[in-house]
Amino acid sequence: MERVQSLEENAYDMLIVGGGITGAATARDAAMRGFRVACVERADFGSGTSSRSSKLIHGGLRYLEQMKFRLVFEGTRERALLREVAPHLVRPIPFLFPVYKENRRAPRTVNFGLWLYDTLAGKRRYGRHKRLSIEDVTEAEPQLRTDRLRGGAIYFDCMTHDARMCLENVLSAAEQGATMVNYVSFVRAIFNNENKVCGAVVRDELTGNEQTIRCRVIIQCAGPWTDEVRQRSEKPDSSMIRTTKGVHLVFPHEKLPVKHAVVMMSVYDRRVVFAIPRGRITIVGTTDTDYVGDPNNVCAQSEDVDYLMTTLRYFFPDTLPSTDHIQATYAGLRPLVRDDATSPYDVSREHTVLVNERGIVTIAGGKYTTYRLMADDCVEAAMDLLNLARKDKPACPTSKAKLPGAEGDAFDPDRLHTQLVEMGIPEDVATHRVAIYGVRAPLIGGGCDRIIDSLPFTWDELAFGVHHEGVLTPEDFLMRRTNIFYETADQGLECVESVADRLSTWYGWSESTRKAHVDQYKTVVQQSRQWRHGENVV
Ligand code: FAD
Repeated sequence: MERVQSLEENAYDMLIVGGGITGAATARDAAMRGFRVACVERADFGSGTSSRSSKLIHGGLRYLEQMKFRLVFEGTRERALLREVAPHLVRPIPFLFPVYKENRRAPRTVNFGLWLYDTLAGKRRYGRHKRLSIEDVTEAEPQLRTDRLRGGAIYFDCMTHDARMCLENVLSAAEQGATMVNYVSFVRAIFNNENKVCGAVVRDELTGNEQTIRCRVIIQCAGPWTDEVRQRSEKPDSSMIRTTKGVHLVFPHEKLPVKHAVVMMSVYDRRVVFAIPRGRITIVGTTDTDYVGDPNNVCAQSEDVDYLMTTLRYFFPDTLPSTDHIQATYAGLRPLVRDDATSPYDVSREHTVLVNERGIVTIAGGKYTTYRLMADDCVEAAMDLLNLARKDKPACPTSKAKLPGAEGDAFDPDRLHTQLVEMGIPEDVATHRVAIYGVRAPLIGGGCDRIIDSLPFTWDELAFGVHHEGVLTPEDFLMRRTNIFYETADQGLECVESVADRLSTWYGWSESTRKAHVDQYKTVVQQSRQWRHGENVV
């Protein structure tokens, strides 16, 4: 109620619908340009597609084949910019591309593609790609299949923590004066006598209370919910997006101990599938299939697991990671702009902004890597709707502005690590905190009471999450502020009750509210395991 009231008290220039990466970055961009901004997120920040990606910040090597050079150029430029503004969350990672006799592309073609990729990145690349002999490939990744191997190559892209990157945009937007609220839904726009937007009805999802707020422009950044959100006020007769599902499998790293992100061609349709090492886990993905249905219920099915496992087994025949080793799965929906492509894989990854002169901007498409450009386009469209003269339009400020975990002097992970260890924090906890919180790590304090004995997540992080990072439910903490959902064999079921107890004390929940939050978390874990009840799994 209080959260919604704070929305009601102000009049905003722009109301942003959706707190995924696109909405969070749009709020940040607009607030930095001096606009009065509110952003409402129906669930938790980043809980939609923005925590379910492959977590790569990449130029998009595969777009070269489609001759989309501008997209690759844009991607590599953004990759470099994001590394500058969030070095703690955007890190280079080597990719190993093995080439087999049955590959459509010969080693020479692969190397030409990588040369072009490096060239488009110019000075922004993280090392030149390297050609590998059969022996080099085997030495680099000893578990890979050697039968019919012809050689390969290594090249570089970046990886990130998608949920936390989104969160840092939220935090920065709030620092700049934006009102950022999670668990508040946009219900519908309100129009004045001239048929222009003058406000919106929003609903607090934790209490069910509805309120009206005043705003001049609404920017809809609702990802896979775009069509549904547009129906609320505009009632268009055609759909704007094509949602395609992407599934990832999560293994403990020791079960699939790759040192590089390994590029595999699916044995079914020759799409690219990655096995990506992420510390204690390896993620394998992704799929790309049309999805019709409720975006809230998207999850891995047995056929998705089958698709990925078959390819994995083909490339790693001796490691034989089995379905028993799958610790978690996660699935997300790409909110792609509807076009004429027949295969989901071929649908353009570019974004589109639609402007309704009544005062509504809608964005769809794009990829995580280009979120900053998408946000810029949204704010530019909103400024046009506000009828600002060219001279009164502030320029996009985000290309150089660091995110909160990198603010201040140059980010120096070693110095920070030492500082934390000197505070009495164990090495592994210090490493984890620097990688996740950047320069904010010391703010968590010196407490290191572990939530799970073998992992570096601590109870102080929960307190920090509640006070500084908008944690409202166990799921927010276990799945997005930390990786406990992905990194434990029981996906956090063992600690969810204790997490809920502490949240209950902070928020004064009734027993039924506490239980509802625990049950909600159990449902999410159940969804992640639902594939096990299907047929057709290898
Ligand atoms: P979302 O993150 O879905 O945000 C939309 C938000 O709107 C949601 O949080 C939702 O709850 C909220 N919302 C909906 N309705 C309402 C309402 N009525 N009121 C308030 N809020 C509402 N891109 C890359 O660059 N690199 C990758 O490696 C990569 N991998 C991917 C892998 C997969 C499997 C998928 C599916 C996508 C991948 N992408 C990748 C693309 C990228 O993840 C998405 O483009 C991006 O996350 C979309 O963000 P978004 O903010 O537009 O949507």
